[in-house]
Amino acid sequence: MIVPHPDSAHVELLLGAYVLGALSPAEDARVSGHLQHCDPCRTAYLDMADAPALLALFSEEDLLGGLGDDTP
Ligand SMILES: [Zn+2]
Repeated sequence: MIVPHPDSAHVELLLGAYVLGALSPAEDARVSGHLQHCDPCRTAYLDMADAPALLALFSEEDLLGGLGDDTP
């Protein structure tokens, strides 16, 4: 189970859409950049990429909510 971190820039909530290729180019770059240096998120991504059924854990609301915290 992935727990959101409200006070961090982790990208767990974006990973579902990232795996599906549903992110905007800017969000996609943000996630891939974050995965370069964040082991927990990278592990979560690998788990997700390896087990698409886990995507069922994410509601559409979760995915959309995760897209709202982009701070350029
Ligand atoms: Zn992270």
